[in-house]
Amino acid sequence: MVTANTAASLAIVAHDEMKSRMRDWAVQHERLLSRYRLFATGTTGGIVGAACRSLKIKKLKSGPLGGDQQIGALIAERKVQALIFFVDPMTALPHDVDVKALIRLSIVYDIPFACNEATANLLIEGMAKR
Ligand code: PGA
Repeated sequence: MVTANTAASLAIVAHDEMKSRMRDWAVQHERLLSRYRLFATGTTGGIVGAACRSLKIKKLKSGPLGGDQQIGALIAERKVQALIFFVDPMTALPHDVDVKALIRLSIVYDIPFACNEATANLLIEGMAKR
């Protein structure tokens, strides 16, 4: 089981075509992101971690290998308080059902969920005001 401490935790995920945007977004918001315990699917976590050395990122499995579902479990256990998932709108993916499941769990547990950059900006700035 994946465990989290009591500090607020965010999960970040980006599909392949969106990973460079996630990396650039994380670099831009590194100071705010450093306030949180971060979870990420494997490849996304590796790319963001290499670009943002100050961030402590718990890398889960790669999304298609179960990483999205690990994030879903963390949401269900209330160990992740927000999700930023840069979804690729142009590519059909084999683990599309996992993406749908994450969206559904974010609704069920009523956590902030950003699936594009504009909303991610609002989310990270809004959480900073809490
Ligand atoms: P990845 O997974 O960060 O390991 O590529 C993301 C996904 O496709 O869900």
